[in-house]
Amino acid sequence: MARVITEVSTAAAALRRGELVAFATETVYGLGGVALWPDTVARIFEVKGRPTFDPLIVHVPDLSAAQKLVTKIPPLAAQLASRFWPGPLTLVMEKATQVPDLVTSGLPSVAIRIPSHPVALRLLREVGLPVAAPSANLFGRVSPTTAAHVQDQLGDRIEWILDGGPCAVGVESTVLNIPENGCPTLLRPGGVSLEEIEALIGPINQPAEIALTQVESSPVAQLAPGSLPQHYAPLTSITVSDLAAPPSPGRWGVLAFRDCPHADQYAAVEVLSPDGNLTQAAAGLFAAMRRLDSQGLDGILTERFPEEGLGRAINDRLRRAAFRG
Ligand code: AMP
Ligand code: MG
Repeated sequence: MARVITEVSTAAAALRRGELVAFATETVYGLGGVALWPDTVARIFEVKGRPTFDPLIVHVPDLSAAQKLVTKIPPLAAQLASRFWPGPLTLVMEKATQVPDLVTSGLPSVAIRIPSHPVALRLLREVGLPVAAPSANLFGRVSPTTAAHVQDQLGDRIEWILDGGPCAVGVESTVLNIPENGCPTLLRPGGVSLEEIEALIGPINQPAEIALTQVESSPVAQLAPGSLPQHYAPLTSITVSDLAAPPSPGRWGVLAFRDCPHADQYAAVEVLSPDGNLTQAAAGLFAAMRRLDSQGLDGILTERFPEEGLGRAINDRLRRAAFRG
């Protein structure tokens, strides 16, 4: 089992020795390793079972550390960074040569973020080196939002988990590609809403909702190679539909936004936000999926959330969780 710790200095020392440390961020728990050391980065891919064509996000504590990883910070990126960093926004920019190709899956760009969780920030400052950190779960599975979730899935593969409590945002960062010139593209909806981004910099490119069967050949897939159709998936099959009675006989679970009209017909019911608050719903999403997944259900029914604010990120995760090739 991994050792669950709260001392940042112990975690920082382990990272500097080239070990992996799972740590809390405001989005989900990350599986961290020093981003500049190819052997360490290779272990991240190995531990997660993540294909090496899926590039990692590099975490830094401040803008000057970010600057060292890119050829330059384009003006739009600087504007976004000053508004949303530290926070759940990842910016993809042209990489500097010191960033190993393994981190970026051979792409000429690197994805960078300054997290806002105080434990993550202290850790990054103490390490003094950029830290690559994908979500601390097995590839394709539900992301962890507590130290216990990490222990469940990766406890036998890593040594350290830096506990920072439950994650406040609960879904991964928004990923934006920022070209040197031209308009940014939304590569993944996440913790900073599209509305907030567009209020600051005006309309951005957002690929039309792609039929999941075409995800692989879509423009987003080519820009963001890891955006696979199946992801964030529990082992129990998920169906996105209207919340009616269970679609077939058996023990069904339901994952609802505000309420569940036929609750008595389900073996397990998770309601994410009775007040209809999408931020609250996002914060509880992955933990609710895990609770449902642990009950040996025949299936999970969920609904489409409002396509606004954090609802976009929730719908994205649910569509991918529901995808079955
Ligand atoms: P994760 O580490 O699971 O949160 O996923 C990070 C995601 O960010 C990847 O799956 C890619 O879709 C995207 N990403 C990371 N680096 C790049 C990059 N250099 N260019 C485009 N997308 C990237
Ligand atoms: Mg992930």
